[in-house]
Amino acid sequence: QAKADGRNTICLFLPEMQAAVSARSALEGDLRQSLQHDEMLLYYQPVVNEDAHLTGVEALLRWHHPQRGMVSPAEFIPLAEQTGLILPIGQWVLEMACAQLAAWAQQADTRGLSIAVNVSARQFRHPDFVRQVTGALGRSGASPQRLKLEITETLLLSSVEDIVAKLAQLKAVGVGFSLDDFGTGYSSLAYLKRLPLDQLKIDQSFVRDVLTDPNDAAIVRTILALAESLDLQVVAEGVEVAGQLDYLRRHGCKAFQGYLFGRPVPVEELVITPAMRGVRIDAII
Ligand code: C2E
Ligand code: MG
Ligand code: MG
Ligand code: MG
Repeated sequence: QAKADGRNTICLFLPEMQAAVSARSALEGDLRQSLQHDEMLLYYQPVVNEDAHLTGVEALLRWHHPQRGMVSPAEFIPLAEQTGLILPIGQWVLEMACAQLAAWAQQADTRGLSIAVNVSARQFRHPDFVRQVTGALGRSGASPQRLKLEITETLLLSSVEDIVAKLAQLKAVGVGFSLDDFGTGYSSLAYLKRLPLDQLKIDQSFVRDVLTDPNDAAIVRTILALAESLDLQVVAEGVEVAGQLDYLRRHGCKAFQGYLFGRPVPVEELVITPAMRGVRIDAII
C-alpha cells in the first residue's frame, strides 16, 4: 500500500510537469516585477463610427518581456488574475488611460475621443474598485464621460446586487460601461435588463465568419436587434474586411473596431485625423 502511494507521489514530479510549474512561476515572478521594470505598455486600437471616423480607442495592454519579447495578454492576463497581480496592473492601466484622456483634452482634434479600458472580474469585485476608478479620474483630471469600462460576462457569476451597485455608482459620475465579448459567456437576458449598461461589443468570433456562416450571421443580427430594443449601443469587434463592415452596417451597426481601421498601436502611431487609413466608406457601400 505504502509502495503504491509512493508511486503515485512520484507521478507528481514528472519532469514535464515540474518544467511547466517552474515556467509558470518564473513568468509569475517576472510579471510581479513588470511594472517596476517599465515593461508594460498601453496600445490603443481605433473605434470608428459609420463614417469611419475615429470616435475613440480601446486600451490594450502589452507586456514587453526582456527575454521573451512581447507576451500576449491572452497569456498573462489569466495569470495576473490568478495571482492577484491584476490589481496593481489594472490600476496602472486606469492611471495611464486617464492621463491620456487628460492630455487629449488639451487639443481640439482629440478632445472628443473616448478610451475604453478592460476591467477583469477580479478587479471589479475588489471592494475598492469604485474608488480606484474615481481616484484615477480625479488625479488625472480626465473627464469621466470619456472613460468607458469594458466588463465581461464572467463577472455575472457574482452577486448581481454588488455589480449593479458598482455600475450605478460609477455611472452616476459619468463613466460608461460596455459588455465585452458579448454572446460568448453566460449572461442571460434577465441580467442584461438589470445592468445599467451603455453598450454591447459583438465578439469577433461572430464577426469573423459573418459572410459565410449563416449561424454567425443570425447571431450578429440578433445581437443588433436586441441592442436596439434595449436601447444599447453596439460595437462590432474584429472587422477585418469591407464585406463584414458592409454587412454590419446594413443591419444597423454604427460602431466598429478591427484591423480594417487599424491595429492596436502605441499612442504616437495613432492616426487621429482624417478618416482612418484611407478606408473610403463611400466606395464600400
Ligand atoms: P478584448 O478586450 O476583446 O480585445 C480585443 C482583442 O481583439 C485584442 O486582442 C485586439 O488586438 C484583437 N483584435 C482587434 N481587432 C482585431 C481584428 O480585426 N482581428 C483579430 N483577429 N483580432 C483583433 P489583444 O490585444 O491580444 O487582447 C486580448 C484580450 O486581453 C482582450 O480582449 C482583453 O480581454 C484582454 N486585455 C487586454 N488588455 C487588457 C487590460 O488592460 N486589462 C484586462 N483586464 N484585460 C485586458
Ligand atoms: Mg475589450
Ligand atoms: Mg472583446
Ligand atoms: Mg476578449
